[in-house]
Order: sequence, then C-alpha cells, then structure tokens
Amino acid sequence: MSRQASGIIYDIKKYAIHDGPGIRTTVFLKGCPLDCWWCHNPESRNPEPQPRGTMRPVKNLPLLQNDRNLIGNEVTVEQVMEEIRKDAMFYEQSGGGVTFSGGEPLLQFDFLHALLKAAKAEGIHTIVDTTGYTSYHHLEQLMPVTDLFLYDIKLLDDALHEKYTGVSNRLILDNLKKLDQAGASILVCVPLIPGITDTEANLKALARFLLENTSLREIELLPYNNMGEHKYERIGMPNRMGHKSIQDEDESQQKKKIFTQKGITVLAD
Ligand code: SF4
Repeated sequence: MSRQASGIIYDIKKYAIHDGPGIRTTVFLKGCPLDCWWCHNPESRNPEPQPRGTMRPVKNLPLLQNDRNLIGNEVTVEQVMEEIRKDAMFYEQSGGGVTFSGGEPLLQFDFLHALLKAAKAEGIHTIVDTTGYTSYHHLEQLMPVTDLFLYDIKLLDDALHEKYTGVSNRLILDNLKKLDQAGASILVCVPLIPGITDTEANLKALARFLLENTSLREIELLPYNNMGEHKYERIGMPNRMGHKSIQDEDESQQKKKIFTQKGITVLAD
C-alpha cells in the first residue's frame, strides 16, 4: 500500500448528527499534535496503532478489526469510501455527508486529501474538523474539496493555551484569519471546559478576536462532556482533569449571551 492511498483510522461513527449538518458518517484519523488536558479521545493522540488495554473494540466494523488488540488500523482510501458510500441515501435525504475528524486529520495530509477528493468526486458533502494547528499551505490545498471546516478555538491567552494544550495558539489564530480571508466556509467550535476555556474572560476575548480579525459571525459552543474520563485508565494514561461536572442550562445560556450580545450567532449543537 502506498502512503498516499492509505492511512490510520481508529473509529468510524455512523448516523452522526452532531458533526455538521444532516446525517453524517464521521471518520476518525489517528494522531494529534496537541495534548489537551480535557481530551475525550485520548486514544486518538498517538499517530500509530497502539495496545487497546481494557478498552472495548470498536463496534462491528470489519474495517476496524484487522487486529482486535490494537486501537487504529491502516486502511486504504477505497476501503473507507466503501463504508461512506453505504449511507449515501441518508446523506441525500438529510443534507448530510462525511466528516473527517481526529485527533487532527491534517496530520495525515495525503490520506485526508485523497479521501476528500474521492468523496467530492461522488457528490458527497465534506467536512474537515480541525485544530488549525497545521501548515496553512495544507489547509489551502483542502479548500476546493472541503465544503465546511469545523475549526476549534480553545483559549485566546497564549500562555494558558500552551499550558493546557501543549502548544502556542499563534499558528491556529493566524491560520483562521488566512482561511477566512481566502473565502473558506468555516464554523468556529469552542469546547466549554469548566474553569479553563469557559471563563468570561476567554469567551469575551474570543468574541473580540472574531469581530476584529475575521468575517465569521457564527460559532458553535460545545458543552463539556465527561464521558471520556474512563478511557484514561483503560489505556494507561494519566487523567489531568480529574472529574468535572457538566454545565447546567443556566450556565450555558450565560455563555451564549457573551456572543449574542455582540452580534455573533450561537448555533445549536
Ligand atoms: S485537539 Fe482534540 S484530539 Fe487533540 S488532544 Fe485536543 S481534544 Fe484531544
């Protein structure tokens, strides 16, 4: 298999309704350059297949069961397309399509690019869910075959960004500005991590950044989800977040207001 025609994925989610418009298939590519304290997919971070520990194997997808003891399988573009095609009827009826997520899917740029080209050639709506921590040249090359970028912004304070994700936010914010100026379709997504990203200071700084530096006037707020907590122990990684409760409805409304008061629409998940 050539590297260009194959890559490593660790999951495929069918009938996804929170990864963009309509009913979608979400393909999770392995590997991430960030190291977020709150990561709810810690099994995505290592770019290579890794021991499964006590984590359960992924559903009943033969494509992901080359070796049931490992998380992550090398698969070809055509194998992934076969899986995507099975639900083409649902995409047409619901305005859905395919979402490529991670980890950071651009870490496997050639594989991702080939998947996007193949999906577009079959008229399937495409989304790339990215951290933005990547080369702008690569983002630019994906534009013709990407209908929408889901672009994660976490923290505006660079020192805090570095502390909680392991990297500076400068490249991420610069790439967002450039991608917006180039006319890409982008939805900024903000994970609401209690006491870290969901503070009034951070959300206000983000609203200001968008208004002053981009044409983007819609965002999505992603409520904290503690369902990944158990995975750390199962794959033998330390959980630096400990246990955090999810936000209640009142808190979520207050966070939304920070944006709506400034004319930024908060889309429902
Ligand atoms: S960017 Fe996403 S996948 Fe990567 S470490 Fe952060 S939360 Fe995990």
